[in-house]
Amino acid sequence: MTVLDVQDVTKVYGDGDTAVHALRGVRLAVDEGDYVAIMGASGSGKSTLMNILGCLDVPTGGRYLLDGLDVGALDDRRLAILRNRRIGFVFQSFNLIPRMSALANVELPLAYGGVKAAERRRRALAALEQVGLADRVDHEPNELSGGQQQRVAVARALVTAPALLLADEPTGNLDTRSTADVLGVLDRLSADGRTIVLITHENDVARRAKRVIRLVDGRIVEDRRTAPVGRPAIRSGGDELRADDR
Ligand code: ADP
Ligand code: MG
Repeated sequence: MTVLDVQDVTKVYGDGDTAVHALRGVRLAVDEGDYVAIMGASGSGKSTLMNILGCLDVPTGGRYLLDGLDVGALDDRRLAILRNRRIGFVFQSFNLIPRMSALANVELPLAYGGVKAAERRRRALAALEQVGLADRVDHEPNELSGGQQQRVAVARALVTAPALLLADEPTGNLDTRSTADVLGVLDRLSADGRTIVLITHENDVARRAKRVIRLVDGRIVEDRRTAPVGRPAIRSGGDELRADDR
């Protein structure tokens, strides 16, 4: 099963003499259960590609299918639903809400998704347990280390049982020990069959992925597999969310 299908995608910012060709025909298919690291120098188009993969932006040319859905054919409302239900985001800066417990932070995407309180709590606790924070659920972000905060963010990304976990420099703000913690969580999720795409500058981080893609000037110049895709995840809890946004 192909989760991401990027077909000759281009992205141009602006027009005329000042147009910037950020992506120049990117073709990329990612199967369920794969763990892909996207590398490249500053300005090579990583964030642009990430924004398209995450349905935060649409391509100028080409097609992008997420879980078989043609993203370009969706209006803003359906795009927002798709983002909420199919993609879990992890950012360099954690983006947790201050003065809200870890549990409340993780419940948030489910609240937007209209899941009832008891079910929200059950799923958020399970997600926090998955990232090894069962004993920190009542802590607020400022009572947690950077690594713990990023693990809360990973739990928040997972709680909707997304088809894809998208991480943009997830260890960029972390010390060595916290980096190891977060990468350990991603390794376990990958072993469980989660589909992960992460952007990183660091070779040590990219080495943990099963496939490394290198962007230069808006083009993929290298696509190297270092480990087999692995088995797909058994999706729990997402199925009832799937029917109505097809
Ligand atoms: P990276 O994340 O690899 O540093 P980006 O995707 O951010 O690369 O940028 C790729 C190219 O597109 C760069 O030349 C950048 O200046 C340009 N760019 C990115 N976003 C915009 C924008 N919103 N408007 C105009 N140019 C942009
Ligand atoms: Mg960038």
